[in-house]
Amino acid sequence: MAMVDEAAELADALAELRQSIHREPEIGLDLPKTQAKVLDALDGLPLEISTGRALSSVTAVLRGGRPGPVVLLRGDMDALPVTEETGLPYASAVPGAMHACGHDLHTAMLAGAARLLCARQADLPGAVIFMFQPGEEGCAGARHMISEGVLDAAGERPIAAYALHVTANKLPCGMFSTRPGPMLAAADQIRVTVHGRGGHASQPHRAADPIPAACEMVLALQTLVTRKFDVFDPVVITVGCFQAGTTDNVIPDHARFLATARSFSASSRAALADLVPQLIRDIADAHGLTADVEHAAGYPVTVNDPAEAAFAVQAIAGAFGPGRGETAEFPLTGAEDFSFLLDEVPGAFVMLGACPPDRDPQAAPTNHSAVAVFDDAALAGGAVLYAELALRRLTRG
Ligand SMILES: [Zn+2]
Repeated sequence: MAMVDEAAELADALAELRQSIHREPEIGLDLPKTQAKVLDALDGLPLEISTGRALSSVTAVLRGGRPGPVVLLRGDMDALPVTEETGLPYASAVPGAMHACGHDLHTAMLAGAARLLCARQADLPGAVIFMFQPGEEGCAGARHMISEGVLDAAGERPIAAYALHVTANKLPCGMFSTRPGPMLAAADQIRVTVHGRGGHASQPHRAADPIPAACEMVLALQTLVTRKFDVFDPVVITVGCFQAGTTDNVIPDHARFLATARSFSASSRAALADLVPQLIRDIADAHGLTADVEHAAGYPVTVNDPAEAAFAVQAIAGAFGPGRGETAEFPLTGAEDFSFLLDEVPGAFVMLGACPPDRDPQAAPTNHSAVAVFDDAALAGGAVLYAELALRRLTRG
């Protein structure tokens, strides 16, 4: 039976697993209920299964009946600190937690791929690592799993690694999208405290006011973006938090702000880490103030290997026929900890549309929204693509 037909038969079970995970979302690195559901879904399959020590990950290895290389498939499993407002029958039963990024779909699709590939074990030339990962949202779960040995789980390093990510908008349901090179941004955090000297607001000359200097820094960061970076290797800096003072007639001692810095190349990322602290300190100095600047490294740029991205596009056409895949013109400005894997192993990150048919993909709420909805109709295709990527890549060698 063709893989797509087999997956169609699995669709109800995948939707059931996905909705069960959706109802009980868990956040961060410790997802015991989700882990138990994954272990249950994999029960009885011919897999070598291990679980994480510092996090509730599941690593499952399928060894094919024929010799060959290793391929890794990754699905993340964690939810977000969002209170769901979709009103869906299977909506989150946990206030303050929601699968608003669709990682519940990734978990179900990867479990489905395990089933599809296990059915082909005898002919499979090599091994597949199924990486069920907690803590994608800000906890660098992928890095934790790398340090706990996920890349060596099958005894030798994978020749390629692939991840799928659903999107609640932009792409029609079932449409895949990827691109060679940068796929997602690096995201680092800039934390600034400007130290002044408080006093009476009517006599600023007797104080050292940190607020105008901090405002100047916020604007200078935007000028830095346009004057120090190539327009074709873009950078985004957004100050998302600015705090100072208590009332109108008091000059405070300190002003603080937080910014996210997004970049799409290792060189721009390194330049930001260099130039931002220097700019902040120099502005503080110009006003006779001091500033503490922390440039905290977040996730690296997610870079698709060009050959692997081209291979993924071929696999999509091979599995589903023409019209189901597109090569994205631009990267996305979000960030992903799959980047840590792609720093070690060539591979590709592929987006999958999961916008419900009654919504306009261009107008639908985005991932991370409390009203984002992901259609279960994407599940079978996602499971097929995971499985096809592994099968085709192992067969090619
Ligand atoms: Zn996500």
